[in-house]
Amino acid sequence: MNQPHSQQPDRYVVIGNPVAHSKSPWLHQGFARQTGEHLDYQTLLAPLDGFNTAVQQFIATGGKGANVTVPFKLDAYALCTQLSERARAAGAVNTLSFSGQEIIGDNTDGHGLVTDLQRNAGVELKNQRILVVGAGGAARGALLPLLTCAPAELVIANRSMDKARLLADQFSQYGNLRASEFTRLQGSFDVIINATSASISAQMPPLPVAIFNQSTLAYDMMYADQPTIFMQHAASHGANTRDGWGMLVEQAAEAFYLWRGVRPETSPFLQRNPV
Ligand code: NDP
Repeated sequence: MNQPHSQQPDRYVVIGNPVAHSKSPWLHQGFARQTGEHLDYQTLLAPLDGFNTAVQQFIATGGKGANVTVPFKLDAYALCTQLSERARAAGAVNTLSFSGQEIIGDNTDGHGLVTDLQRNAGVELKNQRILVVGAGGAARGALLPLLTCAPAELVIANRSMDKARLLADQFSQYGNLRASEFTRLQGSFDVIINATSASISAQMPPLPVAIFNQSTLAYDMMYADQPTIFMQHAASHGANTRDGWGMLVEQAAEAFYLWRGVRPETSPFLQRNPV
């Protein structure tokens, strides 16, 4: 039988606005039970103009680390005193660690995506043709981890073409990528990642149907109880589909590892049911 802990648990939060819906407490509390780590993990609602104050107050009361969600990932980036390479490349931070006076920022979203694709879905990324749809924060965080897998080509398509071009320029040092308009996409892709927020409002980016074939994996970063409209559309053109639940689980596991030095076993959490 486990001995009762004599010390207070280390405290972590996910900071966002809104944040009540976040699955992060469920995941991290589950990881802590599985690994025997003594920690407490809650949500922290910060006012839209009060992210820095909320973080400083949490540090002052002994907080050890925080996940950061919408809309504060850029604020978190600006607040850090140290940044990992992947946070620097993403220009956004989703994981904060507090150590003395230091606020250390990392970005585990792209790692979560690539781990879910490669390990959980068994998808090869090396030498494949990959399309990333969208050029917001999630796309940005995914580019370095995807390019590190050495795809044959990575194309970024976005509604606002200037943002896609900017990302293609910024990440060109890491691999073979280019920007494209939706209508100019040609040929089918092995992996298509929907990193837009269009699915939230049940909208479909105007993608040519020829980009899908029967061996395409169409991946929506959004997750929901039912297949998203992007997944439904892709499936109707023969593609295999997957949503972003596994990405969420894997980015959380990577944050847990950064904080605790212990890697949780994620497979029990991929089913979405209480474990
Ligand atoms: P941002 O607001 O930073 O970016 C939104 C992107 O979506 C932009 O490229 C925008 O294009 C595009 N977009 C929005 N509406 C439409 C539309 N109707 N048609 C075409 N393009 C559209 O959002 P994030 O990058 O932070 O998030 C994107 C998605 O990723 C969300 O669904 C989010 O839930 C998901 N996500 C999932 C995670 C996970 O762990 N599973 C982690 C992080 C994000 P434009 O530039 O033209 O405005």
